Amino acid sequence: MELISDAKAVRTPELRRSNRRSVFMEIYKKRSVSKEQIKLALGLSLPTVTQNLQELEELGLIRKQGLLSSTGGRKASAYAVVNDFRVAIGLYLQKEAYSIEMIDLYGEVLARKSVSCSFARTDAYFRRLGESLESFFQEHAIDPASVLGVGVALEAIVSPDHQKVTYSEVYKCTGLSAEELGKYISFPVTLYHDSHASAEAELWARSDIKNAVLIILNHYMGGALIIDGSIREGASFGCVLEHMQLQADGPRCYCGKNGCFETFCSAYALERDAGEPLDEFFAKLRSGDEKTAALWERYLQYLSRGINNIRMLIDCEFIIGGHLGQYLTEEDFARLRALVDEKCPLKLGRTVISPSEFRSESAEKGAALPAIKAFLQRV
Ligand SMILES: [Zn+2]
Repeated sequence: MELISDAKAVRTPELRRSNRRSVFMEIYKKRSVSKEQIKLALGLSLPTVTQNLQELEELGLIRKQGLLSSTGGRKASAYAVVNDFRVAIGLYLQKEAYSIEMIDLYGEVLARKSVSCSFARTDAYFRRLGESLESFFQEHAIDPASVLGVGVALEAIVSPDHQKVTYSEVYKCTGLSAEELGKYISFPVTLYHDSHASAEAELWARSDIKNAVLIILNHYMGGALIIDGSIREGASFGCVLEHMQLQADGPRCYCGKNGCFETFCSAYALERDAGEPLDEFFAKLRSGDEKTAALWERYLQYLSRGINNIRMLIDCEFIIGGHLGQYLTEEDFARLRALVDEKCPLKLGRTVISPSEFRSESAEKGAALPAIKAFLQRV
């Protein structure tokens, strides 16, 4: 079989390409691997592996990096992926600032920058974005030829082709296109709902996620539904769990309705109710202040109500992330699980609630990841 596939490799461009991709992905997954190890893992002949390694090295995708100890005989050269052969840029536009991240083929953040600047759908703002990226490339000596694209995360619903904002109450930019936003950006621009981007990052960090609901407790809340390891989108909008109504006579939401999950559980809602920033609130809470503890218990009651409602539709893992999520201790998670279990009419298993893999913002990274994933698919 091996001889046949090797013979075909010479004749068939598709098979040659498939062998080359297999060799590349073997190095990518193992991080550091010898020619012999690749041969054994893929069941290819040594000449085929040698030829593919040579091609990949000439293309600049891999390099020899150190030696691997082997059982007897001389040490073998180790091959590794050139992690920054291609990079992707993630931009996260928020109301008062934007941040830029560059990630490599492993999704590792190579460089980061934040800029204080209020969002505005104006030429001046788009020009500033372009200029910031240009200076970012210069500061980090990034070769423009290595940039796969720019993914932009924003608090807005975007079209299925990620080219247009279809709804944005927060930014008031419904109809904004990737072309308009990227007028001064010399790379392909793709738009992502920020919660979708965060879910991309979560899935990248945790390959074991099967079915889960991600709840992002940022200034504005967000969420994502993950089924069979993929982010699910609806017919005209994705997951907007933040607008699930928890109380008909609740506070007014920016969406125009009342009592949304958002109005009780966003970081903004907690700061509004506490009358102070999260840092101060949690410092008081941890020092045992009773009034703060009562407010926190009320917050967890609402959060557990929302989670229980979602759980009635899908009994899966819940992942809590976002800026506010970072303040939660193991005791908070235990209390939250207990409250959800208390609300659940079926006593058939405990609620699974875990913290996000990210202790800081992940939307930039998540917006950049699809370009990396697409590249790895076509190597
Ligand atoms: Zn709402």
